[in-house]
Amino acid sequence: MTNEGVRSAGRVLVVEDEAALAEGIARGLNGEGFEVEICADGLSGLAAARNDEIDVVVLDIMLPGMNGYKVCRTLREEGIGTPILMLTAKSGEYDEAEALDTGADDFLSKPFSFVVLVARINALLRRSTDGRGQTMTVGDLSLDPISRTCQRGDADITLTTREYELLEQLMRRPGQVVAKQELLEKVWGDEFDGDPNVVEVYIGYLRRKIDRPFDRNDIETVRGVGYRIGTGSGT
Ligand code: CA
Repeated sequence: MTNEGVRSAGRVLVVEDEAALAEGIARGLNGEGFEVEICADGLSGLAAARNDEIDVVVLDIMLPGMNGYKVCRTLREEGIGTPILMLTAKSGEYDEAEALDTGADDFLSKPFSFVVLVARINALLRRSTDGRGQTMTVGDLSLDPISRTCQRGDADITLTTREYELLEQLMRRPGQVVAKQELLEKVWGDEFDGDPNVVEVYIGYLRRKIDRPFDRNDIETVRGVGYRIGTGSGT
């Protein structure tokens, strides 16, 4: 059940080891309608950021366990595209260039004003909402790229990150065949050197979640080429 009246402005993960600063940010963001989760070290921050429900990550650089650069780089290598706002300790260009180089979307130099922080978070949310951020639908199947959630009618379907990304590739181009090789490159990355049949395996997982329980057959195999969704042939 959803309650539109208390709909959150977004879910923000704050990875910051200075407790007073983290709590101050959390209090302020709560006041702006955001849900906030705090992690005080890099490793727990990395684990928490893998959650599909996180909309924005506010990531400090100097952290115990694993530094912010490493956390950011690791997330991007895993194909997690959640917007990341990095907090740089000094205003030196070195930090900022490195933050962007690791895959951060934006950075903010400490000390910063809370108003600026909220503006930056909202800008990141808007950026991911514009264009690529629109909900994709194929029949009664919908995929929301902001919350990274999937629904069939009113039923919520829980997808893993890979399953989500695979389905997203198909749903961005309904009715078109997407080549298996392209899916492999976009979802598993260019460096993937395992068995290319992993695509088939994951298509199978997806079918078990989005099609079979609903007696549908939306994901179509186009033999020797790839996969297609949304021709209506299976419904
Ligand atoms: Ca720190």
